[in-house]
Amino acid sequence: MEHLEEKYPILKEMQKGKEVVWINPGQVSFAEGGKDLELTEEDIRDASARLKRFAPFIVKCFPETADRGGLIESALTEIPAMREQINRKYGSHLEGRLLLKQDSHLAIAGSVKARGGIYEVLKHTEELALSQGMLSLEEDYSCLANPRFRKFFEQYTVQVGSTGNLGMSIGIASAAIGYRVLVHMSADARQWKKDLLRSKGVTVLEYESDYSGAVEKGKEMSRQDPKSYFVDDENSRDLFLGYAVAAERLAGQLREKEIQVDEKHPLFVYIPCGVGGAPGGITFGLKHQFGDFVHCFFMEPTQAPCMLTGMVTGLHGQICVQDIGLSGRTHADGLAVGRPSGFVGKVIEPMLGGTFTVEDANLYEYMRDLLEAEDLFLEPSACASFQGVIRGGKSREFCRYLEEHGLENQMENAVHIAWATGGSLVPQEVRETYKNTYLDR
Ligand SMILES: *Cc1c(COP(=O)(O)O)cnc(C)c1O
Repeated sequence: MEHLEEKYPILKEMQKGKEVVWINPGQVSFAEGGKDLELTEEDIRDASARLKRFAPFIVKCFPETADRGGLIESALTEIPAMREQINRKYGSHLEGRLLLKQDSHLAIAGSVKARGGIYEVLKHTEELALSQGMLSLEEDYSCLANPRFRKFFEQYTVQVGSTGNLGMSIGIASAAIGYRVLVHMSADARQWKKDLLRSKGVTVLEYESDYSGAVEKGKEMSRQDPKSYFVDDENSRDLFLGYAVAAERLAGQLREKEIQVDEKHPLFVYIPCGVGGAPGGITFGLKHQFGDFVHCFFMEPTQAPCMLTGMVTGLHGQICVQDIGLSGRTHADGLAVGRPSGFVGKVIEPMLGGTFTVEDANLYEYMRDLLEAEDLFLEPSACASFQGVIRGGKSREFCRYLEEHGLENQMENAVHIAWATGGSLVPQEVRETYKNTYLDR
């Protein structure tokens, strides 16, 4: 690895567990970078249409989605008090507007995983039902809630490896459809997530290993059962496309709020990153909506910056954070991932603006900031988004990015969106523990 560090000096900083800001040298204009990718705008449209077909079924299974007609979508809200708090406390000089995309409050799973995870389960469900001639694309999918279908799906198993949130999303959705569900949990998964899943009839298997280890075990077990389907977060195009649909919905919400995104009104989006599917899919979708006017940045823990390690070295899924001497351990649920998705890094290489890494101690601090300023609770990992908002304006690298894109004089018209990826299902007593967690730096 020594020679990697010589070639990419930022790795030396990362090895020391330092917070870094990395600007992606591979980013090109969307006109150039959006070409010849293995996934296309057509694929996003297909995913979006599928979610609409399933909406009547979703309403039936999950009545809490009725106010959005069975689409699982979250609010976009302005958080001016947080903006003030950030500028006062951290001297961030944040200009423009600050909004929060509240995937923390998505129905069913209470995290961003309600997008990709549930989408993949629905797609698999549609394929099974179509292949058996039990369903046609034109039908009202609410029929899938009938006992006849439930009986049918009970013969099949869905399995997934998870650090917690993906398991909750896949587990709750699959159990509602009728599948037998096995969730393979890594060592860092929280007890309350396992308890919640078990209460829904999901089988939770626990391992001493990290996320990649849990995925391996799950894959192996699934291979031995021809009626089992494994949701492979490290490679799944379906998860990615489920996330990508978020962008057209966000574009609609911005239009409703009469918020412009154009040459004079740049949009900055900050998204926490684990294996890469959620932030990658969202970025992919946003680029198709807003092209060069949107600037997407990923947030990763200093001890588990897997996507950054893959992107910096160009090795993507061929390298893990342990290879550069990091532990991969972090308090940030959902971000404790050592090895990035093999395909996401390659797809987003021409589109990603860059990455910020963040210390665990700061996640709790930002969580308390948001509570204090806006009376909103997010889980610590979701608060990683604020690292970009808080540090951007103070970072040399980020300011150079703005100059290179001719944005330094547009920032008072900028819109910043912190993507809140999880939190609403966190039990009260766990919230209390989080609120009182202070880590050494
Ligand atoms: C899973 C997760 C992410 C990141 O998603 P990936 O697809 O793993 O990159 C971010 N925040 C939370 C709360 C998550 O659960």
